[in-house]
Amino acid sequence: MTDDKQNNKVLVLGAGIVGICNALALREKGFEVTLIDKNEPSDATSYGNAGVISPWACIPQSMPGLWKKVPKWLLDPSGPLSIRWSYLPQMAPWLVEFLKSGHPKRLPAISDAMLTLNRPNLDLYKQLLQGTGAEDLIKDCYYLYVSRNPSGINLTSLEWKLRKERGVPFEQISGNEAKDLEPDLSPDIQSAAIIKSQGRTVNPGRLGKVLAAKAMGLGVSFLKAEITKITPNDRNGYDVLTDQGTQNANSVVLTAGVWSANLLKKLGVRVSLEAERGYHLVFKDPGVTLTNSILDSDNKFVSSSMEMGMRSAGTAEFAGIDAPPDYRRAQVFKKHAKSLFPKLNTDSVDEWMGRRPSPPDSVPYIGEVPGFPRLFYGFGHGHLGLTGAPMTARMITALVSNEPLNIDMTPYRLDRFNKP
Ligand SMILES: Cc1cc2nc3c(=O)[nH]c(=O)nc-3n(C[C@H](O)[C@H](O)[C@H](O)COP(=O)(O)OP(=O)(O)OC[C@H]3O[C@@H](n4cnc5c(N)ncnc54)[C@H](O)[C@@H]3O)c2cc1C
Repeated sequence: MTDDKQNNKVLVLGAGIVGICNALALREKGFEVTLIDKNEPSDATSYGNAGVISPWACIPQSMPGLWKKVPKWLLDPSGPLSIRWSYLPQMAPWLVEFLKSGHPKRLPAISDAMLTLNRPNLDLYKQLLQGTGAEDLIKDCYYLYVSRNPSGINLTSLEWKLRKERGVPFEQISGNEAKDLEPDLSPDIQSAAIIKSQGRTVNPGRLGKVLAAKAMGLGVSFLKAEITKITPNDRNGYDVLTDQGTQNANSVVLTAGVWSANLLKKLGVRVSLEAERGYHLVFKDPGVTLTNSILDSDNKFVSSSMEMGMRSAGTAEFAGIDAPPDYRRAQVFKKHAKSLFPKLNTDSVDEWMGRRPSPPDSVPYIGEVPGFPRLFYGFGHGHLGLTGAPMTARMITALVSNEPLNIDMTPYRLDRFNKP
């Protein structure tokens, strides 16, 4: 291969929504792109999420006082959090960083970094879908927060203060107003709020597949292969070893979701990342229709009408990447969703588990690996990878192209938790 061709070639490792958006953006910029995944595109975590596209998302998971709620959640088998105790020693360093990230002094910078990444994405998705014939995969909507407790949605709390300081368009509404917006909601709802100018996809898996097909239509090659190792070669580039042979290029973009940390570990690069496992239930014949994404603030899960039924998704389970799913965590949604939507038909359901790639501070890792020129990374999007994918791709494409970004990339560095 000539030097020019080699310089123009990029390998994108992992075809979840983040890798797909990267492959597409790099191809549109003129690079020769090969996208590699052991599965078909958009079949892992990006397949089963709650479909919320939240340009206003700026609240991290770790918030002051969270630890006070944890014991109650852990003791409740239908609560939003579970930890497999045998796994606790392994995740302890991450947990320490997670709790430290929730310090009030660190929150404004975290919140800003989240908003910078998330803000453009609803518009970007609409642009990406233009001309695909699948434009209706994205709907404009509200993000509706509801509680059965009259003071459950408290807009004077720190969470809402952070949003207000950043210009997030939200408004408190009454339980009755929430029911006017969503007639299938329970009359038990006593407090609510809406975040405006939101989006949702009616099929996250198909959204990824449509964009992957678009990328391939533009010339991206897809290789179905398991990546075993990335190693620097003697031509200023990288060999990517797979079970289907070795690929090489001068530039590599690592977008393998929660599996990215293990691939970096083989290069001697440490990164703080946990699999925050979540579940969904799809009610296939729900008998209720929602026009917004609805967050049950009491039970911490999101419901949305999709092409395949009504999907309820959420919970955080820490058990490592490979532990078998515990589908009791998904079945919990039957009870919770029925209490939120009394008319819901819960007879026929599909259950699913996915692994959110979660850094301690909820800010994704985006940049170039220190000490490994032109090995770029975009992973760690936690609860917001569907939302953050298009802007992540813009950032990485600018880095690969050596173009100015006008964004301070420091908050997204992968060595930010490493002790000197
Ligand atoms: C229950 C739940 C609800 C969620 N709801 C939302 C939501 O409403 N809105 C939102 O914005 N986000 C949501 N998320 C988060 C979002 O789904 C994730 O952040 C996002 O899917 C991560 O995308 P990704 O491309 O980084 O990873 P993935 O989709 O996991 O893709 C990584 C890819 O890398 C491939 N790969 C890994 N290792 C290898 C290897 N060695 N060789 C070859 N291929 C490899 C995998 O096969 C996979 O296809 C939710 C997540 C869960 C679990």
